[in-house]
Amino acid sequence: MFVADCLNVNEKGHLTISGCDTVALAKEYGTPVYVMSEDEIRKTCRMYRDSITEYYHGRGLVCYASKAFCCKEMCRIMKEEGMGLDVVSGGELYTAMQVQFPPEKIQFHGNNKTEAEIKMALNYNVGHFVVDNISELETIDRLAGEAGKIANVSLRIKPGIDAHTHQFIMTGQIDSKFGFALETGEALEAVKAASSYAHIRLRGLHNHIGSQIFDVDPFVAAAEVMMDFIAQIKQETGIVIEDLNLGGGFGIKYLESDQPVPYGDYMKAVSAAIFQKCDALGLDVPYIYMEPGRSIVGEAGITLYTVGSIKHIPNIRTYVSVDGGMCDNPRYILYQADYTVLVANKADQERDTKITVAGKCCESGDLIQEHTLVQDVEVGDILAVLSTGAYNYSMASHYNRTPKAPVVMVKDGKARVIIRGETFEDLLRCDV
Ligand SMILES: *Cc1c(COP(=O)(O)O)cnc(C)c1O
Repeated sequence: MFVADCLNVNEKGHLTISGCDTVALAKEYGTPVYVMSEDEIRKTCRMYRDSITEYYHGRGLVCYASKAFCCKEMCRIMKEEGMGLDVVSGGELYTAMQVQFPPEKIQFHGNNKTEAEIKMALNYNVGHFVVDNISELETIDRLAGEAGKIANVSLRIKPGIDAHTHQFIMTGQIDSKFGFALETGEALEAVKAASSYAHIRLRGLHNHIGSQIFDVDPFVAAAEVMMDFIAQIKQETGIVIEDLNLGGGFGIKYLESDQPVPYGDYMKAVSAAIFQKCDALGLDVPYIYMEPGRSIVGEAGITLYTVGSIKHIPNIRTYVSVDGGMCDNPRYILYQADYTVLVANKADQERDTKITVAGKCCESGDLIQEHTLVQDVEVGDILAVLSTGAYNYSMASHYNRTPKAPVVMVKDGKARVIIRGETFEDLLRCDV
């Protein structure tokens, strides 16, 4: 019934998260409210780190993809867990630096970093720029030169594996805005270019094949393609690539039926493939980076709402409207994402009522989930949407001038606010 380990039901029949009663949390902090389990986040970090120790002799760093959920407290927790950080904007980088995140453990991504962002990253001495295109290489070289620095660079490669679909496919040419293509020789040209610049040090290659992937095979295939390319680079240019960034994209449970592969299994299979390629191709074992985002925070988070109205449309459906919606969770309106929904104050009861959960925004498409089974639901009930820790708060908007909901972190039965809820004054902060 429950998607994540941190969720349970107490003697009152209420849903709990890390030992906190969600009905009591809703009362104390109001709704909508995001609740995140620190225990679950730290446990997942440990699982990733342990998998590198166990299967890759510890020669790698797990970088949390902060776009999934970024705030100061999250960066502090990642710092304490010894994780690296993947940032894709000046805003994420700024957040990390405000809690003195070690800059050498930061990878700066993005397909169109602005000059201001590049200067900022050089100024902070970030560990790697993950470069997406030739113009960016030139800009980084020029700005690093002006700053009197050498920028560490990895190149983002399109390995020709598309895992966005459930069935992964290897294609000759993927249409993607991200990275350098292997097939056309563009990637090899980029490697040569990167090594020729005075203020750039080419350290590694990067690939990221998609998100919410449940299969080990595409990761193994991508790692093999990258190792073959590292061998080709060495043979044709003599350039030695030291680092390999394997990206993120590991699937999580949104529905009971989702079957994510245990994270250790990815590492086990991918490590074996890399070691085998190193043997076969006569290469040194590269230092690796992983970039999980969704899987670090996704299952650790839930959103609590209050049911405000219920509308039965005979023979069609029942709309249950909550006090949030696409403002706090745009994933259903964006891509019909699946979620598990429960009545938090009746979590011990059978889920036998089919409903559509609607938000309060002025869009017919403002839904959280359609035709989903929940407990018998009444106005005033607390609805819990599970696995909202990733790409919810970070994608939230102010549509309809809705203030952003607070984020409460729970651990060992105790709760604390890590992002306060916005007020109407907050909405006016930039208005002139
Ligand atoms: C989005 C992204 C990630 C994280 O993906 P998840 O599916 O959240 O694990 C990692 N690396 C890059 C380059 C990304 O764009």
